[in-house]
Amino acid sequence: MILFGPPGAGKGTQAQYLVKKYNYYQLSTGNLLRSEIQNKTLTGNQISEIIGRGEMVTDDIVDSLISNVIKNNKYKNKIIFDGYPRNIDQAKNLSKILNENNQKIELIIFLNLKREEVIKRIEGRVTCNKCNKTFNKLVDKQEILNHSCGSTHLIKRTDDSAQTIIKRYDTYIDITKPMLDYYSSNSNFKEVDGSMKINQISSKIEDFISS
Ligand SMILES: [Zn+2]
Repeated sequence: MILFGPPGAGKGTQAQYLVKKYNYYQLSTGNLLRSEIQNKTLTGNQISEIIGRGEMVTDDIVDSLISNVIKNNKYKNKIIFDGYPRNIDQAKNLSKILNENNQKIELIIFLNLKREEVIKRIEGRVTCNKCNKTFNKLVDKQEILNHSCGSTHLIKRTDDSAQTIIKRYDTYIDITKPMLDYYSSNSNFKEVDGSMKINQISSKIEDFISS
């Protein structure tokens, strides 16, 4: 299964839920890269060098690590791709690797979050100036009501991070647009609204899995 979508849509949360429920294996490229570095493999050393230079790890390296996992029988037919593929080249290469290993993508889930929703969420953020805890007025209604400092300390803080979040979102949409076009014509492509509650999203995904 491929699970993708812009930052803030809750991919990680859903992936972890599915891993627990269906005994899937969550394949995150971040984790793959980190474990190579930790194990000081040849590839790991290469990755360290690239990151040290402030560059992005090449598709070649990522693809070869992904390929190793796909070839491993232990994970056969139970992989959730989380954060991979991240562009159209990787998407095409993934199809190739899967074909070579007699596997296929069963389900492609695009956990979408609209730009205005991202902005709405940022604008909903409030911080308690007594304990420094951050809430979201849109989703944490109950937590705010129960907050021990009371509601008078909750203030809206405007900072640079809001701009960073929106920029990250825009970059993601730019990079994945060709990939989205590539996948969205498939019959096993499903779009899920990431602005729903976490458990609503989960049950939507479960419906797709069982059908
Ligand atoms: Zn507080």
